[in-house]
Amino acid sequence: MKNLKLVAARPDCQRSIINVQGVEVGKDLVVIAGPCSVETERQTIETAIAVKRAGATMLRGGAFKPRTSPYAFQGLGLKGLKILDKAKKESGLPIVTEVVDTRDVSWVGEYADVLQIGARNMQNFSLLREVGKSGKPILLKRGMYSTLEEWLNCAEYILAEGNPNVILCERGIRTFETYTRNTLDLSMIPAVHHESHLPILIDPSHGTGIREMIEPMSLAALMAGADGLEIEVHIDPPNALSDKEQQLTFAQFEDLMVKLRKARAFIQALGSADAASASESALQSGKGKAIRAGEEPHPFSDAVD
Ligand code: PEP
Ligand code: MN
Repeated sequence: MKNLKLVAARPDCQRSIINVQGVEVGKDLVVIAGPCSVETERQTIETAIAVKRAGATMLRGGAFKPRTSPYAFQGLGLKGLKILDKAKKESGLPIVTEVVDTRDVSWVGEYADVLQIGARNMQNFSLLREVGKSGKPILLKRGMYSTLEEWLNCAEYILAEGNPNVILCERGIRTFETYTRNTLDLSMIPAVHHESHLPILIDPSHGTGIREMIEPMSLAALMAGADGLEIEVHIDPPNALSDKEQQLTFAQFEDLMVKLRKARAFIQALGSADAASASESALQSGKGKAIRAGEEPHPFSDAVD
């Protein structure tokens, strides 16, 4: 892809690991979990403790909510950030929260360990420049109408400001299909790994909008090589102030984490079996050359239809 100087896959295929308070994104199995919106102190702290107990590695929660309607719940703002701070102290989990305005980046950054750029702001170039200057880890969601090239160029804006700490997050795109809230494009996982050194997470909550679809899509994402997941979990989903159809209960999240750990172990076993058979065939053929990005033909370039 042209114009990608800092985000493009490296010649030695080395992938970036982004350190968030000791959580190594790109190496550890990263699960960011928590409510769509911070609503009350009790709701957020109880959720933080429940997701931590189940094995989540970071807490999410929106204090600034980009809503379709100006009359829908817009988030608690500063009050929400203070609640997240308490939840961090109670649970020990780093905080992921969205910033929507350039004027808020520095003070929201005092509460957030990761600043999230939402799908609707993916191409807000002044916001990208501002979070780039902040130097903080950034979770950059894919815009719902954006191509991979547009998305990676947005990551390039952040790196170009001297901030290498970018984590990508696929959250579904608009297609003709209306059964799901969005069409979760899991093909972006191998595509991002082919084109870039940045880690990629999957958000099956916004990606499907349907609670029952979170588990199968999460497992599929891990199998396809995702570096982790961002999942909405609520203390009482039917009464959530936003996204009530897609938030998991504590029990559902706990079950999911058990399955994710098993899937992770299976994938690691698969990886070592792969490595064993690759080194065996390399020995037999006398070849052991590493595949380098740039030397390798584009894997999808010879598709004819
Ligand atoms: C969110 O994660 O809270 C959110 C609003 O997601 P998206 O920007 O992907 O719609
Ligand atoms: Mn949501």
